[in-house]
Amino acid sequence: MTDDELLLETDYTSYANSCRDPHIAPGEDLVECRRQRGHADAHATRAGARALRWLAEHTHQPLSA
Ligand SMILES: [Zn+2]
Repeated sequence: MTDDELLLETDYTSYANSCRDPHIAPGEDLVECRRQRGHADAHATRAGARALRWLAEHTHQPLSA
């Protein structure tokens, strides 16, 4: 998947329908995955004009309701 394709997906996915996997980006900013919930492959979000990708964690933290 190219950055352009990823950015299109993140831009057209509403926050409510996005995956929202949390990730500490370089610079220690907390970001959330903005791909569609249930997506395959790496998590990703927009970082300026580029796509930031990260791999899924193997452990799942409990959701804080
Ligand atoms: Zn994700």
